[in-house]
Amino acid sequence: MTCPTGKRTFDTRAQARTHRKRHPDAPRRAYYCHACAGWHLGRLTRPVKHGTATNQQAP
Ligand SMILES: [Zn+2]
Repeated sequence: MTCPTGKRTFDTRAQARTHRKRHPDAPRRAYYCHACAGWHLGRLTRPVKHGTATNQQAP
């Protein structure tokens, strides 16, 4: 599924972590995205910053 943020989407947190192991320079933080119901690596998305979405599900 594509995400409106344009970020790479992972189906699970485990997949995001696996990607991070293969790419040590990738952002360390994995977070759940409500826009695409998937996981991304990196900083908070704009909707989260603006309070229209929550990042509480992220570990
Ligand atoms: Zn997303």
